[in-house]
Amino acid sequence: ATPSEEKDLVIIGGGVAGYVAAIKAGQEGLKVACIEKRGALGGTCLNVGCIPSKSLLNNSQIYHQTLHDTKNRGIEVGEVKLNLKQMMKAKDTSVAGLTKGIEYLFKKNNVEYIKGAGRFEDENTVAVELNDGGETTLRGKNIIISTGSEATPFPGLEIDEKRVITSNGAIALEEVPKRMVVIGGGIIGLEMASVWSRLGSEVTVVEFLSQIGGPGMDSDISKQSQKILAKQGIKFMLNTKVNSGDASGDNIKIEVEAAKGGKGQTLDCDVVLVAIGRRPYTKGLGLDKVGLETDDKGRLVIDSEYRTKIPHIRAIGDCTFGPMLAHKGEEEGVAAIEFITKNYGHVNYGAIPAVMYTHPEVAWVGQNEAELKEAGVKYRVGTFPFSANSRAKTNLDTDGMVKFLADAETDRILGVHIIGPNAGEMIAEATLAIEYGASSEDIGRTSHAHPTLAEAFKEAAMATYSKAIHV
Ligand code: FAD
Ligand code: NAD
Repeated sequence: ATPSEEKDLVIIGGGVAGYVAAIKAGQEGLKVACIEKRGALGGTCLNVGCIPSKSLLNNSQIYHQTLHDTKNRGIEVGEVKLNLKQMMKAKDTSVAGLTKGIEYLFKKNNVEYIKGAGRFEDENTVAVELNDGGETTLRGKNIIISTGSEATPFPGLEIDEKRVITSNGAIALEEVPKRMVVIGGGIIGLEMASVWSRLGSEVTVVEFLSQIGGPGMDSDISKQSQKILAKQGIKFMLNTKVNSGDASGDNIKIEVEAAKGGKGQTLDCDVVLVAIGRRPYTKGLGLDKVGLETDDKGRLVIDSEYRTKIPHIRAIGDCTFGPMLAHKGEEEGVAAIEFITKNYGHVNYGAIPAVMYTHPEVAWVGQNEAELKEAGVKYRVGTFPFSANSRAKTNLDTDGMVKFLADAETDRILGVHIIGPNAGEMIAEATLAIEYGASSEDIGRTSHAHPTLAEAFKEAAMATYSKAIHV
């Protein structure tokens, strides 16, 4: 091993949380190194998560729309054919461009990029098994763990990423499966179900709970989303649990039964996607060497300044508490560096948006109705349907609505839930409103350009404290 190099900060894991922390550290003048073992920066999000899935969602939607939604718009198209190889290539091009972009940002901000797997030797020393062979060690005054997460496996179903797949396989299938079963109707399940159903697969989503969308999605919005996705051809089995699966034959067999117990049923398919959640990934880190522990869910335990019980070792992103979202990890990356350099950092966990990139998109921020009821908060509801919005009407894309939840007494916005075209962009306005402590009346009295989808947002706000104009 080469002699240890002294750094102000060593970051283990170059995903969104880690690379943002690294860039911020470089900008603040810290001597920083970031260790990443996958051979590319950007982690799950850029390589096998957010970015490739959004590329496939965008292009499969264009394909689907070209097939089914052009004639009434006055567009006559000839034969429409899928070139899956090219669709995957387009995805790979987007991924490669973005991951290379981070390498450039590392250079620009004096971040040392070390390609290899890091593990603790002691509280200040990280040994790295280099991807190109050999080993090196780094000493860090500070260390940040940002090793991310991995798909939670389903007991008894061995993942081969060809027929029994996680999202890693679902973004890289070489042909469209005839029949696909998706275990888990959370965001990964629904985004991937959308992609493959649009490309021609018969998709059945099996969800244990009584609603789709995973934790956080408002029930009204979830019901609308399910109805619309069902119209697009996705089959749903709710209140249903998967007991086991058998992929030994050509025909994969998935055994399901009612969540409360009852008569079982066998689903046959060619590909099964396991999408039952993700779990923190800290394998091979040598946590035992420094006496760090994880909780019962595998998360690194930290305080409000991201410190583990060894104060100069911090943890951020998917490997610790909070929603497993890229932008949450990014915020933590910046805040953790500010704690190191300025002793002050801040993330508002009450204002982290969530987006499901189906068509239409679903997006929300703040609390949902069930959460407010449980907390005993008195609230008012204001809604506005996109079917009454002029831009949605001109776009012939009118499914969905905006729903505001505001405090009954103070009118302060507590949550916004949107299903509709471009909901993922629109939620930024709601996030800002919540961050600034706005009331629904603040939004209702703010001019929104006409004709835009954002007018539906304004009118839902108006409906919360007064009445909307256009319904
Ligand atoms: P990761 O991105 O997982 O990065 C951790 C990195 O650490 C990895 O690259 C890993 O190789 C590396 N590593 C681990 N151990 C070591 C070690 N010992 N030494 C060196 N390197 C190591 N979130 C959104 O906000 N929006 C989306 O649209 C979205 N879509 C998603 C779609 C899919 C299919 C999936 C799976 C996830 C999606 N997510 C999305 C979630 C998002 O990808 C994660 O929240 C985000 O990547 C977490 O960032 P992270 O930096 O904490 O961890
Ligand atoms: P999830 O927790 O959102 O959903 C998993 C679903 O599987 C739940 O609804 C759960 O009830 C169900 N389930 C669990 N066991 C089951 C069983 N045996 N049978 C039937 N259903 C079962 O997890 P996910 O969809 O895998 O996503 C993982 C993480 O990745 C999430 O934290 C998500 O936020 C993140 N992610 C985000 C985006 C995005 O922001 N657009 C996209 C993809 C992933």
